[in-house]
Amino acid sequence: MSDRFWEHKTLAEMNDQEWESLCDGCARCCMLKLEDEDSGEIAYTSVVCRYLNHQSCKCTRYPERHALVPDCVELDAETASQFTWLPVTCAYRRLAEGNSLDWWHPLVSGSRSTVHDAGISVRGKIVSEHHIHPDEIEEHVITWIET
Ligand code: SF4
Ligand code: SF4
Repeated sequence: MSDRFWEHKTLAEMNDQEWESLCDGCARCCMLKLEDEDSGEIAYTSVVCRYLNHQSCKCTRYPERHALVPDCVELDAETASQFTWLPVTCAYRRLAEGNSLDWWHPLVSGSRSTVHDAGISVRGKIVSEHHIHPDEIEEHVITWIET
């Protein structure tokens, strides 16, 4: 994948390997979110899915994630127009909206660590849902993620 495929292919034209490589590993989509019933506005919280490894920011149950967590997001090119709830940093949303990838994206930097170095990943900023009562999730709403 030496060519900058994301600059000349549409999301729908990408093969599986290219599609997977777009994920920067930030794990922002593994944060629990609250939706305002009236406005539809999404609020991110610092509470994360129980299956997230807090250090690597990787899913510990990736192959069976959708069976384990019905809300676990499955992104595909057909639903790209609905990516507006994703953080503005997410590569899938950025490309769906015609934007480029930032310097810290692993495909641009050549390193999986720049997403952490740049403070984009959730490392060090999260708490597992294991430790939070469902009624208290609202108390963990955060504003540092732009949607
Ligand atoms: S927010 Fe986007 S780039 Fe970040 S982990 Fe989720 S799918 Fe990957
Ligand atoms: S199952 Fe894995 S990918 Fe899905 S939300 Fe949980 S940690 Fe993230």
